[in-house]
Parts: sequence; C-alpha cells; structure tokens
Amino acid sequence: MAASIAPHTVGSPSKRVAIVGAGISGLSAAYTLKKAGWEPILFDVRPRAGGVLETTCIDDCLVEGGPDSYLAQKPWATSLIRELGMAGDLIGSNDEKRKTYIVRNGRLVPMPDGLLMMVPTRVMPMIGTRLLSWPAKLRMGLELLRAAPAQPRSEDVSVADFFRDHYDQEAVDYLAEPLLAGVYGGDPERMSATSVLSRFVELEREYGSLSRGVLAEKRKRAANASGNPAAGPLFRTLRKGLGTLAEQLMGAIGARHFHLGERIETLERTGGGFRLRTRTGECEAAQVVLATPAHGAAALLRTLDPPAADLLDQIRYHSSATVALLYKMSQLSRPPIGFGFLVPRRERRTMVAATYVQNKFSDRVPAGSALFRCFVGNASEEEARLRDDGALVEAILADLRWLTGLKAEPEAVRVFRWPRAMAQYEVGHAKRIKEIRERMSALPGVHLAGNAYEGIGIPDCVRTGQLAGEACLR
Ligand SMILES: Cc1cc2nc3c(=O)[nH]c(=O)nc-3n(C[C@H](O)[C@H](O)[C@H](O)COP(=O)(O)OP(=O)(O)OC[C@H]3O[C@@H](n4cnc5c(N)ncnc54)[C@H](O)[C@@H]3O)c2cc1C
Repeated sequence: MAASIAPHTVGSPSKRVAIVGAGISGLSAAYTLKKAGWEPILFDVRPRAGGVLETTCIDDCLVEGGPDSYLAQKPWATSLIRELGMAGDLIGSNDEKRKTYIVRNGRLVPMPDGLLMMVPTRVMPMIGTRLLSWPAKLRMGLELLRAAPAQPRSEDVSVADFFRDHYDQEAVDYLAEPLLAGVYGGDPERMSATSVLSRFVELEREYGSLSRGVLAEKRKRAANASGNPAAGPLFRTLRKGLGTLAEQLMGAIGARHFHLGERIETLERTGGGFRLRTRTGECEAAQVVLATPAHGAAALLRTLDPPAADLLDQIRYHSSATVALLYKMSQLSRPPIGFGFLVPRRERRTMVAATYVQNKFSDRVPAGSALFRCFVGNASEEEARLRDDGALVEAILADLRWLTGLKAEPEAVRVFRWPRAMAQYEVGHAKRIKEIRERMSALPGVHLAGNAYEGIGIPDCVRTGQLAGEACLR
C-alpha cells in the first residue's frame, strides 16, 4: 500500500482540500481556505512555490525570470498584497520614462502617443508616425466614421479579422500582433476577439468605431474623475520582486501544508472524497482544486470525466522564455531610452520584446549597469533550433546586434524557460470555457483555477484561485 503523504494533517477531514499546483492561482486558493480555518494541502512538481513567479539576483541586479509586474487597473493582486501586509513593498513602473518602440524594417520606431492598447485616439501622432504607411493611416482615420452595427456580431472572430475589419493588415502586423504577443505569446490569426479584446468588442457594438468608442469612454472617465487625484502607475510590482509574493503567501499558509517536488499522477474518487497519488505516496481529501495549466488538469480528469478532459485539452499552450542580459552602461554607445521595444512577427526575429529594466523600475539595477530582459514568445515554434540555451542566447544577441548595433558581449546571461505555461485564448474560447464550467458543475468537489480560463495576468489568476477557494467553502 502507498504511504500516506499527509500523516501530520490535523482537523476535520471534511475541511481538507488538496490543491494541485502552487503557482499564484493555487496559492490564492490555499490562502482563502487557510483564512477560513480549512486545511489546504498543496502539491507542486517544482521544488519551490510560485509557479512562473521567480525572482533571482544576478550581480546585484534583481531579475524576474517570469512576470515582472501586473496591470494596476485590475484590483485583485493589489488587494491580496495589502491583506498580506506588503503594501509598503508595492512600487509602480516609472511611467515618466514610459516610451515603447516597435520595430519596423529593422528600425526602432516610437509607438505613437495616444494609442489605447492598439486603438488610436489622437490625430497628429498618427499622422506623424513612421510605423504605418499613408494608406494605413487613412484607413485608421476613416474608421472614425464607422456607424454602430444594426446587428452585433453573432460569432467570435480572430483578433486579426477583427482588426483588419476596422483598420487594415498593417494595423494587425505592427500594432495588434506585437502588443498582444508580449502578453500571450500568441498568433492574432487564432486568438479570440471576444476573450482577448472583450472591451473593444463591446465598444464596436455600441459605437461602431473603436476610436470613437475609446474617446467617448475617455471623456466619461475624465468627467467622473474631476477633482480626484491623478491616476496611479500603469504597472505595479513588489520592491524585491514578485517571487516575494509567493514567499509571503507560503509563510501565511504555513510551510507544513506544502509538498514541493511532488507531481500528482492520478486523481480518483473515494467514498467520501478524492484520492491523489504521487509516485511515492497518496493523499485523501474532501475536495480538490486543480490549479495547474489546463493540460495538467485534463490529464488528472481523464478517468473521472473524459469529456471535460477533452475540452481542457483543446486549450492550447505556448512555451516561452526570458533571457536576462547584463551590460556595463559604458559598453553601450548610448543609454537605452524608454521601457523597451516590441518586435512584430513580420520582422522574422527570435525575440518578441525587450525591456530595459533599469528604466522601467527603480532600484533593480546598480548605476552604471544596463539589464535587458528579452522575451521569446512562442518558443515551441522554434524549439528544434533553440533547444539549448547557447543557441537561444546567440539568436537573441544576433537580434540585438541587428537592431541596436550592440556588439559587446554581456557581463552575465541567464535563461529562464517556461514550457507550455502560456494559455492561448483562441476563437471559441468563451464557449469552450462555458462548456467546461457546465461539466465541472456536475463534478462536485473538483474546482479549476489558473490562467486558462478568464484572464492570463496575475490579478486574474489571483481571482480564479480565490473563487476556487470560496467554492470549496460553499
Ligand atoms: C515569461 C512570462 C512572463 C509573464 N509576464 C506577465 C506579466 O508581466 N504580468 C502578468 O500579469 N502576467 C504575466 N505572465 C502570466 C502570469 O504570470 C501567469 O499566467 C500566472 O502567473 C500563472 O499562474 P498559475 O498559478 O495559474 O500557473 P503556474 O504559475 O504555471 O503554476 C502552475 C503550477 O502547477 C504545477 N503543476 C502542473 N502539473 C502538476 C501536477 N500534476 N502535480 C503537481 N504540480 C503540478 C506546475 O509545476 C506549476 O508550478 C507571464 C507569464 C510568463 C510565463
């Protein structure tokens, strides 16, 4: 008989919840349960908690291997951080230095001012930009005249189709694709407009023109905010890195609740709940939260509910990687300006984006140094060519040489790989999620959390974890 994994567990067995995956989603679920006096037991195949949240130090620089910040506008991560007593550690991005470049024909072109995501709201910067051709600019201007549709769209369409319909192919290639690739590492021809651009789909329904819709919303917000202090930073993070959020949550939940370095291999029903097996032991719990990527949840649900497993398996995942490159400022011909740059797929390079860490956040890089954090979006596409770290770094250095003329060798390099960690919200995603939720409601005691469902960013993952925890309590 397999050894029991959690012999030390205390309290009522009916309040024991096994959580598979100790990324930010699983940690948020566990913290919700712990606060209510329940007993979460977390498993993660990695030897540490946090999932893709990983902060490390390279030569006195604070380096984020996974996410480096989150959108301040979404409240759930900030509320959790405050509740954990970390409000004093919250910092914002240095928005006074916020300038992003987009590569066109091998040159860094400043992103025109007045873009809201990828929708233009100001005329002069759009006229002046070298990012788009004159026909593309004209098409963008004419979009302002688009009337509200008699019938709203009945079907989900791809982000590329949605944007081509409003603007044109250039707007897809040089605005939508690079801006979304930095978030999803995905392909706009496959991404769902309803799930990824839900706000723009609503604006289209109401106004027809996206530019007119965005401007109308901006006016409404300005009227509501009159007299209020100026808005805060666009991105937030923690002074000592997002890895400290995972550490703080682990401390609040209690280290004894964690089984790290242990993969859950199978999940089965018992008379009173569920049995989970690792290679060496087993654990019984009244309920289960699957806070793994959707493909991991599918594997565990394969025998309990094959149709749910099939639906979960349909959610594709991309692999990604970040490469941190440290230089002495004196090695660069001039100090990098702005937050960094985006490289559209049309430019056919390896790198999707680069952040100049010393500009985006304060106190991360010592004076006299420059840290480039380069993002490789869909690493799986190039997996064969870039399988080893040396080849990946060479490809990134070639991109930097081509783009910035930088010939110097970096002082330090570090590669972080994230295999199949980025969920792709493809056309039909919302319908698929509804079907998954329906199947799960017929499987009481099993709950899903993670970046595959209703938002890929950290705040959304915190929220799915909290909702899964609350569902257990109910
Ligand atoms: C490189 C990168 C950069 C990003 N940048 C940002 C950003 O700047 N801002 C932002 O808001 N978001 C960003 N994101 C997205 C965001 O960080 C993630 O969506 C979020 O952190 C996912 O959290 P999670 O807990 O759902 O999943 P994960 O962090 O992937 O955790 C899932 C865990 O489940 C474990 N697991 C899987 N199967 C099993 C099993 N059978 N048994 C035990 N354990 C298992 C895995 O080991 C993993 O640790 C980024 C993501 C990546 C990869």
